[in-house]
Amino acid sequence: MQCVISGVQVLFPCQPYPVQEEYMKKVIECLQKGVNGLLESPTGTGKTLSLLCSSLAWLESYKAQQQLSVIQHSHNNNPGILSDLKSVLEGLVGNWDSGSNFMVPRIIYSSRTHSQLSQAIQELKRSNYRHVKSIVLGSRDQLCLHPEVSKAANHTAKVYMCRAKVSSKTCPFYLNYEEKIASKSDYQDSSVLDIEDLITFGKKNVVCPYYAARHLKSRADMIFTPYNYIIDPKSRRAHGIELQGNIVIFDEAHNIEGACEESMSFQLRSYDLALAITEVT
Ligand code: SF4
Repeated sequence: MQCVISGVQVLFPCQPYPVQEEYMKKVIECLQKGVNGLLESPTGTGKTLSLLCSSLAWLESYKAQQQLSVIQHSHNNNPGILSDLKSVLEGLVGNWDSGSNFMVPRIIYSSRTHSQLSQAIQELKRSNYRHVKSIVLGSRDQLCLHPEVSKAANHTAKVYMCRAKVSSKTCPFYLNYEEKIASKSDYQDSSVLDIEDLITFGKKNVVCPYYAARHLKSRADMIFTPYNYIIDPKSRRAHGIELQGNIVIFDEAHNIEGACEESMSFQLRSYDLALAITEVT
């Protein structure tokens, strides 16, 4: 079903309800004006689907406008029809400023947990935008396939063990993973990849799902990530997430306060306190 919302053609699986149409209108207006939006809608009104369809519809218009600009750039003579089409597309995408010429923004879709992300990815797979290249980012806890490393006691141990295996080239899943991704149809033919896909393809092709996700991020128009990869600057740097010029969606954003508190908190064990008291004494 195709509907036109704020001038942008949106593909929606069925005739949207007025509440969904209103929601998508606000999403598109925020993108056209390049401003932040705080949107609320009752449970069960299809927020996730409305968010995905409206933001991706706008992104497709933006890409079309950018492609036209490139063509115009290479044909200095600006034929009339191209100029007309360009002004129509400019009207649709609005004032979005990606910070650099010809840079296409990415949509960074974040939620608190991986199970919430996985529901959003399933919605995307069922939508008319399932052709959009998308990837989910996860940690070694979810994605490591190495029999020894994946069984390490905690996250920190996994990180150290993985780094050691990578630098000594002793993890078979890491070896030549970029070449394998480039040559395997599993990765080349799939647009939307979730955690299960990365693990299934990783086992089949002996490719590390953790590094595969990071690698495939560069071709993705939509990146699914838990809140903490965005909120925590160290995590953001580690996963190469760039906020500037991109679109960031916080789903279920009432959870954001708790996630911020968690990300900036640390545990002080009674053992540490006892040591500190001994030192001071
Ligand atoms: S490279 Fe991948 S599979 Fe190998 S130890 Fe690290 S996370 Fe695990």
